[in-house]
Parts: sequence; C-alpha cells; structure tokens
Amino acid sequence: MWHNKARLAKLRSVDILEYVAVFCPYCGEKNELTIERTDSAQSYAEDCQVCCRGMLIEVTTFDGAIDVSVRREDD
Ligand SMILES: [Zn+2]
Repeated sequence: MWHNKARLAKLRSVDILEYVAVFCPYCGEKNELTIERTDSAQSYAEDCQVCCRGMLIEVTTFDGAIDVSVRREDD
C-alpha cells in the first residue's frame, strides 16, 4: 500500500503545474505541455513533439485562468 501513498505525495508536489494542450502552428498536431502556474507572463521556446520545429509558447494567467498561445518561431 505504500505505493499509493508515494503516488499521492508526488501528485501534491506538482500542484502549481498545469497540463495544457496546444496545437503546433506548423503541422497542426496536438502537443501536451506542462506549464508552471505563476502570476507573471512567461514565454519560452519548445520543439513540437511531432515535427520537431520550434514553437514559441506564451503563457499568461488572469484570475487563475491560464491562457496559452503558440506561434511560429520564425514569425
Ligand atoms: Zn509540429
């Protein structure tokens, strides 16, 4: 039963992380990302998990809601 306990503890520690799905601006495939829930806007580069091209991810949070936008790195 200690397995379950360990799993719960692990889940609790990622409370500030959110899983979001974005669609690649090149190939249109879905990418699942883990983003950190912070008060400030953040942007970073991420490679598409399908076509490996670079995407720019912009994350903004507003009233606890997360808005994620994706654009091509060469825009
Ligand atoms: Zn892609």
